[in-house]
Amino acid sequence: AEQWQGVPLAPPDSIFQLTAAYKEDTFDKKINLGVGAYRDDNNKPWVLPVVKEATRILLNDETLDHEYLPITGLPEFTTAAAKLILGVTSPALAEGRVASVQTISGTGANHLGALFLSRFYQWSGDKKVWLSNPTWANHHAILKNVGIEPVEYPYYDPKTIGLDFEGFVGALKNAPERSVFLLHACAHNPTGVDPTPEQWGTIAEVMLAKKHYAFLDCAYQGFASGDLDKDAWAVRFFVEKGVALLICQSFAKNAGLYGERVGALHIVSPTKEASARVKSQLSVLQRSEISNPPSHGARIVSLILNNPTLFEAWKQDIQTMAGRIIDMRKELFRLLTEEFHTPGNWDHIVNQIGMFSFTGIKPSQSKALIEEAHVYLTGNGRISMAGLNTKNVRYFAESLDKVVR
Ligand code: PMP
Repeated sequence: AEQWQGVPLAPPDSIFQLTAAYKEDTFDKKINLGVGAYRDDNNKPWVLPVVKEATRILLNDETLDHEYLPITGLPEFTTAAAKLILGVTSPALAEGRVASVQTISGTGANHLGALFLSRFYQWSGDKKVWLSNPTWANHHAILKNVGIEPVEYPYYDPKTIGLDFEGFVGALKNAPERSVFLLHACAHNPTGVDPTPEQWGTIAEVMLAKKHYAFLDCAYQGFASGDLDKDAWAVRFFVEKGVALLICQSFAKNAGLYGERVGALHIVSPTKEASARVKSQLSVLQRSEISNPPSHGARIVSLILNNPTLFEAWKQDIQTMAGRIIDMRKELFRLLTEEFHTPGNWDHIVNQIGMFSFTGIKPSQSKALIEEAHVYLTGNGRISMAGLNTKNVRYFAESLDKVVR
């Protein structure tokens, strides 16, 4: 028989397919609201000024070479990255209870975290991880790759275009003890719906009572509110409460380093001694998968995190990005409610947080936006706010108004 006869043809990735269709479209007012990457007001990718500055410094540094990094990554990077998410005064850090490893961006952190749990977690039954319904589609694939079955907990309520808090807490209560729950630390993808601090409090309480494990995915620190500390609040709160957890951290969005693949996995353990054993095993796993992580992006982020002037400049850049997105939310809301008097309630446009917004429109309406208005978005009605700008937001509001009427 012919080789690879049994290999079925996989469907293309839907997001990247959407981008391809957008690129082929010749309509002058076309808009791409699919991909989750920041665009400036001219719809162009944005190299953060602080990243340009850090790159200049690296280029002029005669002491740098292209040797291998340590297996667990650039130590100045992982240490500073842990402080960024856990807080400089974190007791867990002071007590040496955090094992940090540099990963291939957030995806790699999710993979390594899942792989570690698959090998070493004390599963109460079958290997299962609970995912929000819906979640970043890759979560399902990443878990399955390491032999973990993804199962879903209720999260988004289409009726309120908000959080199904009752359903979520019910799932936490009904799951067997020591279940693993994957939670988005801030700016939930794809819904843009986050629990309130009070709701996080209840979630933490139930997780502690049931001895659940929190798999915290943090891909948007700073991007949600514009404030790095504010967006790390839930993570720090969980650590403070003593919820057992790990954190997946990405610098793709908040530093605009998508293609450089800069990220980290942080596993918080009960003792320093346990943490050393955890780190040793992470190192063994990492060695067999990538040997050593790449150096360039980690050096850029390390410079930014460890140099107070660059750090301040980064915070400004983050505010530029988050601020522009928040402005677009406000303008879209204003156009829909005040100018077009579009039927329905649009409060969620300004209440949701981060890069994405769930518009609440039907798949048929999403389809109509693509086919009739040349506005590209995923079938579930998710839009990337970063695709809107002062030049196209009116056309988008007008098109949205037409399809819901
Ligand atoms: N987790 C979530 C929830 C995400 O939305 C993303 C980015 N789309 C990631 C992780 C990881 O992205 P990256 O690998 O580019 O850091």
